[in-house]
Amino acid sequence: MQSKRVAVVGGGVAGMTAALRLAESGYHVDLFESAPALGGRTKSFYDEEVDEWVDNGPHAMVGAYHATLKLLEDIDATQYASWQSSLTLSLWDEQRGFFDLKAASWLPVNIALIWAVYRLPGHDFSSVKAMLRLAMTMHNRNEEQTVQQWMHEIAAPKRLVEDMLEVLCLGVMNEPMNTAKAKTFALVLALSFSSHRNAKMGWFNQPLSQALVAPLADKLRSLGVNIELRSSIRSLDDLNHDSIVLALPAFARNRLLGINEDVATQAITNIHLWFEDKIELPNIMQGMLGTYGQWLFDVSAMTNQENKLQHLCVIISADESEKSQGELIALVLSEIETMLAVKLTQPKKVRFIREKRATVLVRAFEDVDLPSHVFDVGEAPQIGELPATIELAVKAGEKSAQMVHLSHEKSA
Ligand SMILES: Cc1cc2nc3c(=O)[nH]c(=O)nc-3n(C[C@H](O)[C@H](O)[C@H](O)COP(=O)(O)OP(=O)(O)OC[C@H]3O[C@@H](n4cnc5c(N)ncnc54)[C@H](O)[C@@H]3O)c2cc1C
Repeated sequence: MQSKRVAVVGGGVAGMTAALRLAESGYHVDLFESAPALGGRTKSFYDEEVDEWVDNGPHAMVGAYHATLKLLEDIDATQYASWQSSLTLSLWDEQRGFFDLKAASWLPVNIALIWAVYRLPGHDFSSVKAMLRLAMTMHNRNEEQTVQQWMHEIAAPKRLVEDMLEVLCLGVMNEPMNTAKAKTFALVLALSFSSHRNAKMGWFNQPLSQALVAPLADKLRSLGVNIELRSSIRSLDDLNHDSIVLALPAFARNRLLGINEDVATQAITNIHLWFEDKIELPNIMQGMLGTYGQWLFDVSAMTNQENKLQHLCVIISADESEKSQGELIALVLSEIETMLAVKLTQPKKVRFIREKRATVLVRAFEDVDLPSHVFDVGEAPQIGELPATIELAVKAGEKSAQMVHLSHEKSA
């Protein structure tokens, strides 16, 4: 395949994975990225004031991210991912204080989960029955149904929805339950809760630029991939390669192809806070219920940066708020104070990052008509498939390499 030239458009996780797998198979790969650096939405920037590489938003994983795990292995980066030993969701609300949803690893995973929910404060046998109904109805969701309609159908108690299902829906699908698609949510639940290994949560213990992007870029260079930064491809006619892989989110793909069609996306807001005083959190990933901020991550603890200012990050998925930055910052600070029952000192620094198009939402996307040498694997998550995540991006990259290979084999 040495003589075959492939252009990969988009240097996010999907494009980098595609370039990696193609180069491994012997193709000559040109990777085009419009930004000055690789990484796409998994990006970090250096903040001089706090002397730290800061991610646009911390990225969480689950053990079910098998393709991502394999990729990390292949680029010698497994040491940059940390994992819970077994699933623990550390939660808080104003009435009940702190409590954990903890799956006992010595029980089979489905029983461990049901037992974990039963033991949550305020839950009883009605939550257990709803969990069983949820499990039994997982495999026959239709394309139109929303997560909220599914919860009505199984008469899920409000407490179960608020403590677990809504949290998961927002976190994984980045969409509220009243519009998120049940068929995809069912897949996420089925994959994540099929074993203890799949259910546990993980995080990067270094900024994304070091943990993921640099090891990928190093590997690409070592395989001879030609990386063209600041290269925005405006038309397919700009490229005269044997094959072209489009690894762009659907809205960027549409722009490139001149397709005039709206793509549903959702924002994620991350409010980074740096404090001089040490703030003790019960868990490095603290879920907050009934509050505007949904998760509070202790980034310093996640990335083992004990000696610097303490870096916390409040995450708001599917953020549709019209509040100003100042209002939101004041609101989440007061929520943290209520949760921790402390009066916080003024943060030394605050950084507000709202990614307006953080993820493309799961919808029924039509196939785009493309020339036979062009392969579109960008983020356009179909109903019943994975939502927009790192895992989807890695799988898309892998799939594109297979598609290119297959088409060349056919024409050989
Ligand atoms: C704040 C935030 C938090 C997130 N949290 C999580 C999480 O916790 N867990 C998780 O799994 N996922 C999370 N995600 C989602 C995850 O980051 C994305 O799904 C994934 O990174 C998408 O990768 P991609 O390669 O498909 O797209 P992108 O990363 O968007 O890459 C596309 C690239 O193409 C480039 N490009 C666009 N147009 C052109 C053009 N015409 N020519 C050349 N280049 C072009 C762009 O600059 C970009 O670099 C989060 C996303 C955000 C924004």
